[in-house]
Amino acid sequence: MSTGPLPRFLDPRKLADQGGTIRGDISVGELPRLREFRESQQENVAVDLAFCRDEEGHHCVHGSVATRLVVQCQRCLEPLTLDLDARVTLALAWGDDQMKALPSEYDPWLINADQMPLADLLEEEILLALPAVAVHEHCPHGLMEENAEDPSEDETETEKENPFAVLAQLKKGDREE
Ligand SMILES: [Zn+2]
Repeated sequence: MSTGPLPRFLDPRKLADQGGTIRGDISVGELPRLREFRESQQENVAVDLAFCRDEEGHHCVHGSVATRLVVQCQRCLEPLTLDLDARVTLALAWGDDQMKALPSEYDPWLINADQMPLADLLEEEILLALPAVAVHEHCPHGLMEENAEDPSEDETETEKENPFAVLAQLKKGDREE
């Protein structure tokens, strides 16, 4: 259910004030930070984002960013197809103080311009949705099956603790001259 081309830039504050939505499709190939996924460049990215103000006045974004990426299995090194469905729960923050003051249920989205590139947000959500260790449930050639301990068990969830905040910090570092 596409609603036409997605905007390249968006004004998150205005969208939240107006209760706007961003829905549509883009291809993985249009997201520069996903170029390393060579086999997935034609893959569709389904975007469904709803902007709102919550009861406390926070500008927030809820929705999903879904796509399919082929990665390398870290156990057998064969291609592994991952269906990713990133759940988005963001609150906009203008500066560090606001970012720290956000309720914990939100991931912060640091806003540093009136018009924010949509691609940045999509790339970030997709990269964060990747498991820390990607392995086949059952590797196709039975390689290393004797290795009973599954490295994916422990790490897939624990690594996801508020990663957006970490990236926001990294981004901030990038901007320092
Ligand atoms: Zn494998």
